[in-house]
Amino acid sequence: MTTGPDRALIAALADATGGHVATDVPLAPLSRWRIGGLARIYVEPSSAEEAAAVMAIMHGRPEPLFLMGDSSNTLFDSAGFDGVVVRIGRRMANMRLEGAQAWAQAGIWVPRFARRIGCSGLTGIEHTIGIPGTLGGLILMNGGSQRKGIGLNVVSVRCADSEGRLFELTHSECGFAYRSSTLQGQRTAILEARLEFERGDSAAIRREMLGILRSRRLKFPQKLPNCGSTFLSDPKMYSSVGPPGQALESAGLKGLRRGDAQISPMHANFIVNHGNASSSDVLWLIAHARNLVEQRTGYAMDCEVRHLAPDGALRPAHEPALHLFANQ
Ligand SMILES: Cc1cc2nc3c(=O)[nH]c(=O)nc-3n(C[C@H](O)[C@H](O)[C@H](O)COP(=O)(O)OP(=O)(O)OC[C@H]3O[C@@H](n4cnc5c(N)ncnc54)[C@H](O)[C@@H]3O)c2cc1C
Repeated sequence: MTTGPDRALIAALADATGGHVATDVPLAPLSRWRIGGLARIYVEPSSAEEAAAVMAIMHGRPEPLFLMGDSSNTLFDSAGFDGVVVRIGRRMANMRLEGAQAWAQAGIWVPRFARRIGCSGLTGIEHTIGIPGTLGGLILMNGGSQRKGIGLNVVSVRCADSEGRLFELTHSECGFAYRSSTLQGQRTAILEARLEFERGDSAAIRREMLGILRSRRLKFPQKLPNCGSTFLSDPKMYSSVGPPGQALESAGLKGLRRGDAQISPMHANFIVNHGNASSSDVLWLIAHARNLVEQRTGYAMDCEVRHLAPDGALRPAHEPALHLFANQ
């Protein structure tokens, strides 16, 4: 039931977003892993200004806030989220081309963005064609593939801070490094970005993107819900043991199942959901796999995937996993 303070908050959020607010929203159907309980409040802004207004409303309030893109790097908890999910997604997915540059809202789906850029004869982000997240999530993580990151093409990013003030960061202010940026770990909403490309040959770009998609289809599980790579690659471990997938496979972990969660028989760094997996099934597999690989190799792998706790704590998933299942 919606309580008094919630009613005032919901009214303010509805006012800021043209009514795009809901309560007790099941997260599982919205999540890439198809896992998650109810979110107390869910709000979807449609512009930088609306998102900034939401941030201003939430400033100083006790409820935790989670900025969600497509959840392709997030494990929601089966117990739900007792706070406000701000979705920068489908309602903020416009883009336009301006010569060799593109302006886009942060909620645009990355494969759609990459296809549009490639089809316009612009080259540089073919490597992102198979990454099922939003542009905002990708920028935050400096995500990419083939040893590249989206940051290479970012000119500037427009954000709102925790008080709802709009500001712009230049490429160098974003501090892009391997799978990281200065935007991480802050209550900052990424709202829009400007990216720059080189001119290329559309047919060659298309061939490259199709090749990337084909090789991902052969390597990665596509049929069952998953969150991509569970563990991060560590350069030291890579040179002596190999990437996480290889370390997990050598430890005999491929196919290991807990409830409806399973270490993919196709690629050991992916955990798939056969239907009714819970967040604790996934966390158990993470703790077990991490401990076994550490015993065998001496390397403790950290998670790329983050777990959102009901109280709003957002941590790499191995941290809550080890806390819950220390001795697995
Ligand atoms: C099948 C599969 C394959 C994948 N392959 C790759 C790959 O090859 N390379 C790669 O780098 N990643 C890969 N990923 C991981 C994931 O797609 C990326 O990390 C993606 O960039 C996350 O975007 P998202 O919108 O889904 O983020 P979410 O999971 O929704 O959020 C991730 C983090 O970003 C924050 N965030 C999201 N949007 C915003 C915003 N607008 N403003 C501020 N913070 C925000 C969230 O708060 C959270 O901390 C893969 C995932 C899957 C499911």
